Amino acid sequence: MATLFEKIIAGEVPATIVHRDPRVTAFLDIHPAAPVHILVVPNKAIATADEIADDDEALIGHMVIVARDLARQHGIAQSGYRLIVNCNADSGQEVYHLHLHLLGGRPLGPLLQRSSIS
Ligand code: 5GP
Repeated sequence: MATLFEKIIAGEVPATIVHRDPRVTAFLDIHPAAPVHILVVPNKAIATADEIADDDEALIGHMVIVARDLARQHGIAQSGYRLIVNCNADSGQEVYHLHLHLLGGRPLGPLLQRSSIS
């Protein structure tokens, strides 16, 4: 069954698309965690970071380049931003279609909340 993000890529589920090319689509996160919150996703289905194949090296690099360019276009390259990939349950991954979160537009705080076992 197609994932939510495959449906967005196919135009079957609406989203605010900010970039599209033959390899990658990027769109605004529906529940933004920062003033700029963009998801950069490969057009082909890769469920998690753990399922990235060695042959996907150029695709993953392209995702990062697209995120870099989007950060510049959204005016956060100099102020700073964070790129996040969640993988599997402990990360809190919700959608099992690989995606890079581009977050910025305010100070983002520490990477992780400290727990008693940090
Ligand atoms: P994850 O937790 O898997 O790393 O991130 C999934 C992201 O997808 C979340 O930040 C969530 O807000 C976003 N999201 C979930 N459903 C939708 C949707 O229908 N449209 C868009 N644009 N983003 C979504």
